[in-house]
Amino acid sequence: MGIIRILPEHEIHKIAAGQVVERPASVVKELIENSLDAGATVITITIKNGGKTFIRVADNGCGMDTSDAYACLKNHATSKITSVNDLMQIQTFGFRGEALASIAAISRLRLKTRQTEQDTGLQITVDGGSIIAEEIVACPVGTEITVEDIFFNTPGRQKFLKKDETEWRAIASLVNASALQHKGCCFSLFHDERHIIHAPIVTSNIERMIQLMGADIGRDLITGKNEYHGLALQIEGIMARPTRYRYDKNQIYVFVNRRPVKNHKLITAFIKGYNNILPAGKNPIGALFITIAPEEIDVNIHPRKDEVRFTHPITVERCIQEMVEKALNDDIKQIAYPMQKSDQFTPAKVWQPSYRPDTFSHVTQAAPAPGGTTTCKAETEPFFIQQKGLLDVPVNEQIENETYRYQLIGQTLNTYIIIEIDEGLLLIDQHAAHERILYELFDNRFDEKTSTQLIFPIIITLSNDEAHLLNEHIAPLRFYGIDIEAFGSNTFTIRAVPVYLKDAPFDIIIKTFITWIDEERPITSEDFSRLLNEKLRALMACKAAIKAGDRLTTTEMHELITKLMACKQSTTCPHGRPTIHRISSYEIEKFFQRCS
Ligand code: ADP
Ligand code: MG
Repeated sequence: MGIIRILPEHEIHKIAAGQVVERPASVVKELIENSLDAGATVITITIKNGGKTFIRVADNGCGMDTSDAYACLKNHATSKITSVNDLMQIQTFGFRGEALASIAAISRLRLKTRQTEQDTGLQITVDGGSIIAEEIVACPVGTEITVEDIFFNTPGRQKFLKKDETEWRAIASLVNASALQHKGCCFSLFHDERHIIHAPIVTSNIERMIQLMGADIGRDLITGKNEYHGLALQIEGIMARPTRYRYDKNQIYVFVNRRPVKNHKLITAFIKGYNNILPAGKNPIGALFITIAPEEIDVNIHPRKDEVRFTHPITVERCIQEMVEKALNDDIKQIAYPMQKSDQFTPAKVWQPSYRPDTFSHVTQAAPAPGGTTTCKAETEPFFIQQKGLLDVPVNEQIENETYRYQLIGQTLNTYIIIEIDEGLLLIDQHAAHERILYELFDNRFDEKTSTQLIFPIIITLSNDEAHLLNEHIAPLRFYGIDIEAFGSNTFTIRAVPVYLKDAPFDIIIKTFITWIDEERPITSEDFSRLLNEKLRALMACKAAIKAGDRLTTTEMHELITKLMACKQSTTCPHGRPTIHRISSYEIEKFFQRCS
């Protein structure tokens, strides 16, 4: 006798069901999609034990009449398509016509449904795919589906379910994504009797995000936008300030053309936008809403359509990163500079620069601030920052006219400047901040005025190899105002240097420069010179910047803050270390248990 047997039909159903129903979260997903397709504006989801024993999704959608209520439990029952051809055009969220039947096959399912025109509802109870009870019941208009004990009759699959906590997290993340995608629907989520989410209808993504993340994180969420016309690309982002983070990436939601998608490159671009201001190994919290020309994406790389591939991924990633950088940067500036807008800030906290930077070198005493308590103390010692070149450049005109709204508290550990702002404190790393300022300043070619002739030229002696490398790549040094020249076979002289660098250790700068040439040599020449330029700029900024441990005067601190805030990218130094750490009043109060 042969060994091949035809499986009984109910076994075939159970196997097929496994393809739709992987885990409790996939049941929740199908049920929510059906509710949305039914036009629901209120969806209530109740979960017990991570969904393993109990899942209920109730909606106020159109409901079903008696024949549909029976039909929907049968395989390939759907009101959404009539032929395979329709699959191509389908606009609804679920479209396989087998979800309910599949779920019913592997659980104990109860369907309760009523349409507006009916006085009573119908309740059908199914056990492992067989109907065991039918009743007329009183119920509100809409549909409620309860799914208990999933996989009770397929122990093989039940074994693969993860811990309650893990299954629950998958459900919570899915409900969050659905709620972000459908702001026009009120979502409630309960888990083991706890009310986790209550999200009434809203009109903006940020309002929805605040509902989902809770008021605590909500107060630290900010928004950003970016676009790129060429691809009809528009990005709206919501992101938590870097003081809020997670160990995992589970709270970074990505939507492309309104569908939740998985794409780790987009998430990486989002994280990169934080420019290392997050502590090592930590991940941000946020959401990306991307719309793009449909021909720019391919969603058919995964059967569930939850992965997406872009025709121009690099452009999209760059737009995301830029958006995050700008939003975080603007946010920091806004905190320190709400400018004349807010009234509740007392004049005592306002510090107004009362000098023009070009006349600064003659000022020994800054004028008192309007309102008085914060004044720049008279300083008789020479201005360190001025010596270091911080003041040699005309400051951005606009900045000069602004009112800087912070109170300088002082310097700690001779390294960090502490200022008070409307919403808490900022700690500024003086070296990192000055590096950033100089780095942006060095953005342009140095002209004669900014270089200074050395009375005693610097002589640097190198090995044969080093001299050879340097000879080939001397251009970036000259570009930045370092007048260097071969002098004999292994010796170089430097006759002029940028004023900012007049006391810098040039032997170290040149030797470091040579090691980079050696390290980076294989890359293309264009990338190479860009990289060398950038590295050199960062190195010069580092060498010219005030150091950790340098004592600063009050005026110098104000000057540093002002210039930092005027930077294009003020939150990190050129090496990617943070310049500013923000401690919100909320955090301080929370620590001292003065608020919940
Ligand atoms: P599909 O969603 O692919 O049509 P399902 O098995 O998920 O397949 O659902 C079958 C049918 O049952 C749907 O087409 C719809 O007509 C009906 N249905 C399911 N859930 C609901 C609901 N919550 N409200 C109204 N009708 C529903
Ligand atoms: Mg469906």
